[in-house]
Amino acid sequence: MLIRGPGLSETMSRYLQDRMEATDRILVHPHTELTGLEGDEHLTGVRWADNRTGAEEFRPIANVFLMLGATPNTDWLQGCLETDDRHFIRVGADVTDHRTRADGAPPSGLETSLPGVFAVGDVRAGSVKRVASAVGEGSVVVAAVHRALATDRP
Ligand SMILES: Cc1cc2nc3c(=O)[nH]c(=O)nc-3n(C[C@H](O)[C@H](O)[C@H](O)COP(=O)(O)OP(=O)(O)OC[C@H]3O[C@@H](n4cnc5c(N)ncnc54)[C@H](O)[C@@H]3O)c2cc1C
Repeated sequence: MLIRGPGLSETMSRYLQDRMEATDRILVHPHTELTGLEGDEHLTGVRWADNRTGAEEFRPIANVFLMLGATPNTDWLQGCLETDDRHFIRVGADVTDHRTRADGAPPSGLETSLPGVFAVGDVRAGSVKRVASAVGEGSVVVAAVHRALATDRP
């Protein structure tokens, strides 16, 4: 396992780290970045480098799994919906700017700062970043969407 930073403790649950450390089939390389993939029709080799020294290493490896994706893709929403400083979308009581609402009241539940627009799952500020919670929020928000559609809104 290649890690760009110094270790896993900041980004991975302790129980997962314990399981990885307990198996000699997993080697953890901190401060390491993927620098090259080799092969024609199939992957046959992987190159990586120590990002402190630049020292490169090559191994004949045929499979790579990239574990990426904790940054919300919400740049295009800036100025449209209220987000937190990490660009996750604020909903309900977490919304601080109530000016978009005629009554100035905070949005309900999973509603964003823009009336009638909702956010659920990973993109929501403060959500538990797990499949089950994203699915659960998705099912819960349906009733609110129906209510919003049934109401006359600007
Ligand atoms: C490497 C990794 C491992 C994980 N392991 C686990 C695990 O073991 N167990 C677990 O419960 N959870 C795990 N998670 C978390 C889990 O994947 C998320 O919590 C869950 O997928 C969130 O679902 P979501 O629908 O909110 O977001 P996503 O699954 O991220 O879905 C959002 C979708 O929106 C699309 N999208 C983004 N921007 C736009 C746009 N502008 N227009 C149209 N579409 C757009 C994206 O391409 C994506 O398909 C893991 C996450 C990662 C990154």
